[in-house]
Amino acid sequence: MAKPSILTVDDEPLVLSAIERDLRARYGKDYRVLAAGSGEVALETLRQLAGRGEPLALLLVDQRMPRMSGIDFLAASAPLAGEAAKVLLTAYADTEAAIRAINQVGLDHYLMKPWDPPEEKLYPVLDDLLNEWRRSIRLPFEGIRVVGALWSPGSHAVKDFLARFQIPYLWMDVDQEEPARQLAARDDTGGFLLPTVLFPDGSRIVAPSSAALADKLGLQRAAAHDYYDVAIIGAGPAGLAAAVYGSSEGLRCVLLERQAPGGQAGRSPKIENYLGFPSGISGGDLTQRAVAQARRFGTELLSAQEATAVERRDPYRVVRVKDGGEVVAGAVLLACGATFRILKMPGAEDLTGRGVYYGSAHTEAAYFRDQSVFVIGGANSAAQAALFLARYASRVTVLVRGPQPGAAGYLVETMEKDPKIEIRRQTDLVAVLGRDSLEAVVVRHSGSGQEETLPGKALFVFIGVRPESELVAGLVARDEKGYVLTGADLMRDGKPPAGWTLSRDPLMLESSCPGIFAAGDVRFGTSHRVSSATGEGAAAVAIIRQYLKTL
Ligand SMILES: Cc1cc2nc3c(=O)[nH]c(=O)nc-3n(C[C@H](O)[C@H](O)[C@H](O)COP(=O)(O)OP(=O)(O)OC[C@H]3O[C@@H](n4cnc5c(N)ncnc54)[C@H](O)[C@@H]3O)c2cc1C
Repeated sequence: MAKPSILTVDDEPLVLSAIERDLRARYGKDYRVLAAGSGEVALETLRQLAGRGEPLALLLVDQRMPRMSGIDFLAASAPLAGEAAKVLLTAYADTEAAIRAINQVGLDHYLMKPWDPPEEKLYPVLDDLLNEWRRSIRLPFEGIRVVGALWSPGSHAVKDFLARFQIPYLWMDVDQEEPARQLAARDDTGGFLLPTVLFPDGSRIVAPSSAALADKLGLQRAAAHDYYDVAIIGAGPAGLAAAVYGSSEGLRCVLLERQAPGGQAGRSPKIENYLGFPSGISGGDLTQRAVAQARRFGTELLSAQEATAVERRDPYRVVRVKDGGEVVAGAVLLACGATFRILKMPGAEDLTGRGVYYGSAHTEAAYFRDQSVFVIGGANSAAQAALFLARYASRVTVLVRGPQPGAAGYLVETMEKDPKIEIRRQTDLVAVLGRDSLEAVVVRHSGSGQEETLPGKALFVFIGVRPESELVAGLVARDEKGYVLTGADLMRDGKPPAGWTLSRDPLMLESSCPGIFAAGDVRFGTSHRVSSATGEGAAAVAIIRQYLKTL
């Protein structure tokens, strides 16, 4: 779409070129500045703009023109000018006429000639009018449109992916609006194929995988080099920190992320305990800053690229990726974090994405305005989600298994003070009910054994996490839950683990396979905090540098 236009009209060429120059200097970046030497020429310009459907933001017209006065022009242009702001350039003697024109032609402002200096006499008035115009009109949206439904898990996944890359999109709900129903792709029986993602070039894709979406958006998915100093698996806080410190210190780093960057932290509406942000920072904001920083220092970020295995091909460490390729590096950092435990109970699988959500309170909250929702879990992440959901939902019921939520005291207190939040203690979730979407949950009080069915539209699940370490199963030592053991945790009676052949002990953050390191939530001993993940990611870089010198 063309930029909105500003049209200035004056019959005196010198005045016209002066005003055109001043307008371009200030507004040329965001607006097309057009100039006309008479009312007739200006009307023709307006007809052309209207014919092409291009928006007009402002008319700046001299009152004193011989054949058609400024006010006459503004009256004649009314059918073509839409909601454009109207400003008259006047001499002192024209003041009366200008005041009358406020009612006659809906004049927004009149300015006295000369307007020097424009910073004082021209721009402040026009800035206000243009801001007001932008607020009042709705420019046609020309970015990505996601046509979906609240109950379609794929729609949710696409929204989450775009949000994590900070790619703006317009959400269109087939249950809410006719244009969405018209744009959605359909199957042979006329049923909607959701989500349908429409791009500005006119193309569309239906229910895309992360990889297809990344390809379409032009995101890098394949490694550009044959060898890297370090391959980092996972772009959560630990991986991003390692990428920033590694690449800023001259290591050639590649960062593989199976979805979009951010990790669990990317789902946090507000991280309150991260150093340097006294009023908190959203996970999305933190991710965006970290990705920009890592890229600036030269890290290659491969998106929608899942690492499926790590191999030891001495002296190299090789990461195999899902689409069949591989990435060769001197060292590998496992920063794969952890993912949510899944609810195992009747109805839960079918309703996932249709009212049952894992950790996505931030992206979904606004869709449950004035509805009743549930949060299951009592840790910090659950408490934060409940507080965020309460901004939109009419009621948030937090289901906690124990006698007290395990979240930090200040979070529990804030929840207790919120009139929209109810904490149900000693409560087990037994089943989730609903046909096409969640309609109710069944809970049981662990003391009395009494069951209750509670109606509600969404359930946000925060029942713990499991480490993402399957890709190194059999290669590195893990504990019984799957956390990767590193450094001193590998030592038994002062001796390194079985199979360790080097004369030195495993370095801090180094796994039982030399050259493979772990940081953040995937590592045994993690404290499940953003700050410890970033700290370990950064520390891993220093240790990896030490390791690389031994190759
Ligand atoms: C909702 C929520 C709120 C939270 N709030 C706070 C808070 O306020 N304060 C706080 O300190 N902590 C908070 N936490 C915890 C914190 O987010 C985590 O401790 C932190 O994100 C761990 O970072 P990480 O980099 O180790 O792992 P993760 O954040 O889990 O990131 C791991 C990344 O690796 C990717 N990955 C995994 N496997 C592969 C693979 N095979 N190939 C490629 N990529 C892979 C994942 O997609 C993911 O992006 C919160 C967590 C949640 C879920």
